[in-house]
Amino acid sequence: MKIVLASANKGKIEEFKKLLPNDEVVAFSEILGKIEIDEDRDTFQGNAIKKAQTIYDELQKKDFDDVLVISDDSGISVPVLDNAPGVYSARYAGLNASDKENNEKLKTELNKLGLEKTPAFYTACIAIVYKNEVYTVHGWMHGMVLNKEIGTNGFGYDPMFIPNGYDKTLGELDETVKKEFSHRSRALKLAMKILEVIL
Ligand code: IMP
Repeated sequence: MKIVLASANKGKIEEFKKLLPNDEVVAFSEILGKIEIDEDRDTFQGNAIKKAQTIYDELQKKDFDDVLVISDDSGISVPVLDNAPGVYSARYAGLNASDKENNEKLKTELNKLGLEKTPAFYTACIAIVYKNEVYTVHGWMHGMVLNKEIGTNGFGYDPMFIPNGYDKTLGELDETVKKEFSHRSRALKLAMKILEVIL
């Protein structure tokens, strides 16, 4: 079964490939080239469905019939910032902002409140489109966000995030540790249950 990922984020593509070692997992760009999908929905679920459905429709046009598309939309929410950046995590510092710029913006917002650390959580919504049906699941990872970056592992906000039960950031922890309980791993475990039923 060819599983097409409706994501252009290299960090996520690598994570998905590691989480699905027994399947042929390809990024949509390897088949369809560059497609811009405007993530304009106000929920992780809305954006995840939009991404997966758009790629599924494009693959159908190219006669890829027996294909399953998976997308994820994810982000970090900080309750003391009214759950920002949330669905805007990828563009917190502006459209096309880099991870580094987004992290700086989050540090600035925490510093404005004089916070060295505060509770935060990651959310991942995974959408699956297969045979014109849509399925979604969610996963969460709770912890603390810091006003500084420590370590270089992971991607995005990882160097600023300490998961509950640990005293190191995801930038310092081995990636195999993150894989055990990340928001994406948890959502993917549920997604695998759906795959068991529909495939
Ligand atoms: P998306 O590609 O629209 O889902 O954007 C998700 C954004 O949320 C990424 O660009 C990161 O900034 C952030 N994000 C989501 N998941 C993670 C993670 O596992 N680690 C670090 N940052 C993440």
